[in-house]
Amino acid sequence: MEQTVEKKAMIFDIQRFSVHDGPGIRTIIFFKGCPLNCTWCCNPESQNYNKQLMLVRDNCIDCRRCETVCPYDAISFNPTIEIDRNKCVNCGACSEVCFSEALTMVGRKMTISELIEELKKDAVHYRKSNGGITLSGGEALAQPEAAKELLKASQEQGWHTAIESTGYATEKVLRSILPHLDLFLLDIKHINSIKHRKYVGKSNELILKSAKIIAEYPGTELAIRVPVVPGFNDHPEEIAEIALIAKELRATKLYLLPYHPYGANKYGNLGRQYQNVDTPIPTQHQIEVLKELVENLGVACQIGG
Ligand code: SF4
Ligand code: SF4
Repeated sequence: MEQTVEKKAMIFDIQRFSVHDGPGIRTIIFFKGCPLNCTWCCNPESQNYNKQLMLVRDNCIDCRRCETVCPYDAISFNPTIEIDRNKCVNCGACSEVCFSEALTMVGRKMTISELIEELKKDAVHYRKSNGGITLSGGEALAQPEAAKELLKASQEQGWHTAIESTGYATEKVLRSILPHLDLFLLDIKHINSIKHRKYVGKSNELILKSAKIIAEYPGTELAIRVPVVPGFNDHPEEIAEIALIAKELRATKLYLLPYHPYGANKYGNLGRQYQNVDTPIPTQHQIEVLKELVENLGVACQIGG
């Protein structure tokens, strides 16, 4: 008899007791891997689809156990620890002997049953607060089967289901997910496709097409999220263009998410360089002005998630 293999999701974090990203108390499941490449991403470990080695230098106690176990000679001390990312294959052997957690692996595969068991720990809070679960990332739609199965199983538990997504997915994937979603939090970052491609790595046509499909789907609420990044999309005209699309789509709310270099140090931990070092944080006044602008166009607006 043929055995069905249970779907697995590549996850990099699970955050409990969130009061953002949907109604009530929620658990956020972060899927690893993303088709976009936003330079301001505050979770750079979310972008790659595979497990990755992270190095937090401040935790290193210079015991040098890692150097002795690395089969690829990727670790050296000069005088402090260095990882040669060209040699490292992310096998994880060094992280297993690093007791100070200077070296850790990001990313683990979990079956849908394992995830549901984990989520059940907070089910009582979901019930009391009308909360539930939110898929985030990375991009959960880049693991469509696992995302669908997790949403479906959550629905069967009676939990509210939401996704925070770039919308960068085929129509087929979207239509397989929508019946299992109460709320779609869709990022629209820029209306100009050339600028979108320059800063995000992909043009926006597919995302805008997804927006229409979601908006027309009965039973799934659509809200729009806009990361406000100085030099990319913080001009009032740019935000107004997104607000007008949100209005056309009858989105219930537009969230303005001010840029912050929260994840900057994680780029170094992954052996990457943070490119947005010169990007200023938008002022409260600037964001308030943009909020008023959105509201004046007839769209409900909130600052922050
Ligand atoms: S095992 Fe961990 S603490 Fe020891 S030298 Fe390597 S990174 Fe540093
Ligand atoms: S993850 Fe593996 S290859 Fe990379 S540094 Fe550690 S032991 Fe070496």
